[in-house]
Amino acid sequence: MALTPSSVAQNTLVDAQNSIRVFEHWFGKVPYGRIAITQQPQFNFGQSWPSLVYLPVSAFLDSTQRWLLMGTSAFNFANFVDELTPHEVAHQWWGHAVGWASYHDQWLSEGFADYSAALFLSIHRAAG
Ligand SMILES: [Zn+2]
Repeated sequence: MALTPSSVAQNTLVDAQNSIRVFEHWFGKVPYGRIAITQQPQFNFGQSWPSLVYLPVSAFLDSTQRWLLMGTSAFNFANFVDELTPHEVAHQWWGHAVGWASYHDQWLSEGFADYSAALFLSIHRAAG
């Protein structure tokens, strides 16, 4: 596969679509009917809004491009990038469709989003 920006973006979108498939199987239909995935200029965080997911520019780079930018730090960063897309997609369910009664319960949103990302990655990696 060519390492063009559009081909790398395609990989990110496939991960987002597969996350949605896994989460719809386990948690029910997409809460808002659709999810738009877009890029933001920040490098190290994403954000999820109802029906909209911001992914950092780093999510649209492949491991070679990240290595060229970051050197050996890219290896530690790889887990963040792998988890990021399913984590932010999972917030459509955890944090938006299912909220919290007070800030004491807010950790549940992050906890279930992390759990959902791990669920996705376990299936994704098992599929090879
Ligand atoms: Zn989160």
